[in-house]
Amino acid sequence: MVTAQPPLASNLRGFMARPSFQAAPGTRDLLSPDTDRWRRLTEVFADAASKAGFGQIVTPMFEDIGVFTRLGEASDVVSKELYDFEDKGGRHVALRPEFTASVCRSFAQNRQLTPWKTWYVGSAFRYDKPQKGRYRQFDQVGAEVIGTHDPDVDVELIALAVGFYESLGLVIGGDGPTGVTLILNSLGDKADRPAYLDALRAHFEASLDQLSEQSRATLEINPLRVLDSKRPQDAELVAAAPVLADFISDEATAAFERVKAGLDALGVAYVVDPRLVRGLDYYTRTTFEFAANSLSSAQNALGGGGRYDGLVADLGGPDEPGVGFALGIDRTLIACDDAGIFAGPDTSVDVWVVATTGGLDGLEIAHELRQAGLRVDRSFDHRSMKAQMKAANRSGAAVAVIVGEGEAAAGTVSVRVMQSDAQGEGGAPHIKNQQSEISRSDMVGTIKELLLP
Ligand code: AMP
Repeated sequence: MVTAQPPLASNLRGFMARPSFQAAPGTRDLLSPDTDRWRRLTEVFADAASKAGFGQIVTPMFEDIGVFTRLGEASDVVSKELYDFEDKGGRHVALRPEFTASVCRSFAQNRQLTPWKTWYVGSAFRYDKPQKGRYRQFDQVGAEVIGTHDPDVDVELIALAVGFYESLGLVIGGDGPTGVTLILNSLGDKADRPAYLDALRAHFEASLDQLSEQSRATLEINPLRVLDSKRPQDAELVAAAPVLADFISDEATAAFERVKAGLDALGVAYVVDPRLVRGLDYYTRTTFEFAANSLSSAQNALGGGGRYDGLVADLGGPDEPGVGFALGIDRTLIACDDAGIFAGPDTSVDVWVVATTGGLDGLEIAHELRQAGLRVDRSFDHRSMKAQMKAANRSGAAVAVIVGEGEAAAGTVSVRVMQSDAQGEGGAPHIKNQQSEISRSDMVGTIKELLLP
């Protein structure tokens, strides 16, 4: 029985209709060429990190929720933004909102020789309000060092991040759209906190009615986080708040001086902002953030990090200090776009194979060229010579290899120059559309010569 085909118009309507499923809010598909650029960015980071002596770590995307709640219940990341659920075994787990906790958990579990230097790349998840540069699933690269108090490590980590940004074309301390500001502060040691928190609390409580409602609520949980408020209503009180620098121990002050001296020695430009507290509660001593000139101030944080002495012990490990950073890939790429830098790699193929014999020639030739290390693609579905040549043109391939009945019978292929910048011997340009028929056995050698820069 022949099934009646629906008329073309209704087919088209079916095709045009909204698909049943869309990526969930705050998530998106990354497609080529964006993915090529994404991959290149991660390669630049991987290269810089491995040259600095860091080995890669891959941790699970979800952990026992306790791993993340140790980060501090006063952080929005923990109190409001965790993707947590009970799995089928009744375990309460959460998707990682960041990597540091997992790295510390892994250190506590796997005990590495210290100082342990490790880097990562991957997705993190936060149930936040989606907007440009703020997603519910986003990607980070980062690096952590566990097991040393030496402030030189803080400097080396910052230098790693700086080197990475500069390889992309961003300029630390620069003006204009490529500029990124490195903001630095010291949060002192945990023991320095109580006296400072008391002073902060007293400061804000003295003018409670001037404080925004949200900040009043934050004040009850953690006065330090009130300094993070970007609400205009709080600006005046935040600006007049006592600064931590006046409360931190001599040891922490000396460490901070050493960090600044190290950055000066390496020629890394920075500004000290005594009010930089960052979103997570675990930070101690050095904290830093990279802010892009080109992004709006709400979303201009490209990345940041700092010391978290005490976190490894909180996660059940030995009392080893730690320091690290995480850089947001999504926002870094937006900053690069805005600054017109860091183009993706050229992903066009070298060769397009055009075969009209209906036999296996196209399949075999493409395979042979790929095995010879060339980037090769071809058309399928036995399309006409004209359609295949059109596809070859559109692909940006430097050359097309053509095999029709005549070539197949003669054991030859025709090689056609598709781009006028393919170079001939001695650098003379080949002429676009120049075509020559050569023996099939000479194909790889001839094409490689044609493609020589
Ligand atoms: P944080 O751990 O919050 O300091 O995040 C480090 C970096 O990750 C930030 O500076 C951002 O570049 C990036 N990031 C954090 N949250 C998000 C998000 N929801 N969407 C996109 N990027 C983010």
